[in-house]
Amino acid sequence: MLDVLIVGGGPAGSVAAAVLARAGARVRIVDRAVFPRDKLCGDTVNPGTLATLSRLGLARAIDACGLPVEGMCLTGANGATVEGRYPHGQIGRALLRRHFDWMLLQDAVAAGAQFESGVAVRRPLVEAERVAGVRAGGRGWECDMRARVTIAADGRHSTLAFGLGLARHPARPRRWAVGAYVEAAGQSTSSQTLGEMHVRPGRYIGIAPVPGGLTNVCVVKPWRPGDRAFGDPREMLRRELARDPLLRDRFAGARAAGPTVVLGPLAVDVRPCTIEGLLLAGDAAGFVDPMTGDGLCFAVRGAELAAQAALAALEHGWHGVHDSLAYQRRAVFAGKWRFNRTVRALVASPQALSVAAAGARVAPAVLRRAIAYAGDCHQ
Ligand SMILES: Cc1cc2nc3c(=O)[nH]c(=O)nc-3n(C[C@H](O)[C@H](O)[C@H](O)COP(=O)(O)OP(=O)(O)OC[C@H]3O[C@@H](n4cnc5c(N)ncnc54)[C@H](O)[C@@H]3O)c2cc1C
Repeated sequence: MLDVLIVGGGPAGSVAAAVLARAGARVRIVDRAVFPRDKLCGDTVNPGTLATLSRLGLARAIDACGLPVEGMCLTGANGATVEGRYPHGQIGRALLRRHFDWMLLQDAVAAGAQFESGVAVRRPLVEAERVAGVRAGGRGWECDMRARVTIAADGRHSTLAFGLGLARHPARPRRWAVGAYVEAAGQSTSSQTLGEMHVRPGRYIGIAPVPGGLTNVCVVKPWRPGDRAFGDPREMLRRELARDPLLRDRFAGARAAGPTVVLGPLAVDVRPCTIEGLLLAGDAAGFVDPMTGDGLCFAVRGAELAAQAALAALEHGWHGVHDSLAYQRRAVFAGKWRFNRTVRALVASPQALSVAAAGARVAPAVLRRAIAYAGDCHQ
């Protein structure tokens, strides 16, 4: 029997698989997609994520092909602009998620993990109140896949976490993301090596130049019942850029370089898992909002913690494994969760945003520190 079955070959699944395979576990990743595959994302990998990947020996290819991101440029509706470079020369990278995820998956396979694509997990196999694997299928077939440990790394809309009643979409925030690659976008007035976040009342726009002369553009905004704009996402994205005084000229001549993707509702609340046989990693363990551009940091570091929990369960049994994982996640992430909540509250309130913008003009150092913190930089 397999030691560990990992559902999802995104960054969380691949990192968990690499850690487990190197420790000698028999690991298989399954994913319903055929790789390399696209994934809607801002495409920036912050310095903290890169540091974790470097420590795990998984960053070489990413460093070689991603564009450098030396910090962030934030703008507000009233024209306030703050640029902050990451401290001590730390950098992040910008690259297409189809390439980032594919590199990590190949690293996991090189470490000894098996990988099967085109396998859609339908539901968990629950036996005697523990998860014993999954029911999965592909074109014209369906079967049970059993393992001593199952790791749900199947993303924001996790079949396993929702299927077991661990996850739900909260009533608030109720934001959706619309994103696309465009070509022939004009250059930013700030440095080309800064990621961009343009915060406007009720919405924000993330922009990142990526390799191949493309620019990644994502708009995140609330969706309300009857809102028809989401019915034509390409037009919605075009209109958001065209109505923005800071961005309209820059994107006037831009052309879509692929489909426009819509995703939502973004926020998913997930209860800590206490079911034997199952561990959660990445967005499957909870996701709120991509505002701070650090989802990959949670995914990568959380996957490493989940892999260590899986090794403990394989060696000593399940007693205390979930408690210990929950404790470690809190120890590593609690400060960041609080920070992200504060940033989201600022974005949701026009008054708070104006106060923050005014404060940033008087004391930009505070915002620069926040940019470093959002980037998970080592101070
Ligand atoms: C608009 C937007 C912008 C973002 N921008 C950034 C950013 O710039 N920087 C950053 O760090 N983070 C960003 N994030 C967050 C980041 O994208 C996620 O945190 C990250 O992708 C989580 O990785 P994961 O491995 O948990 O899940 P995913 O990357 O979603 O991978 C999950 C995998 O599971 C597979 N899967 C799903 N269901 C099944 C099933 N039933 N059976 C088999 N396989 C299945 C999928 O095919 C997929 O390959 C952004 C998110 C959004 C929505």
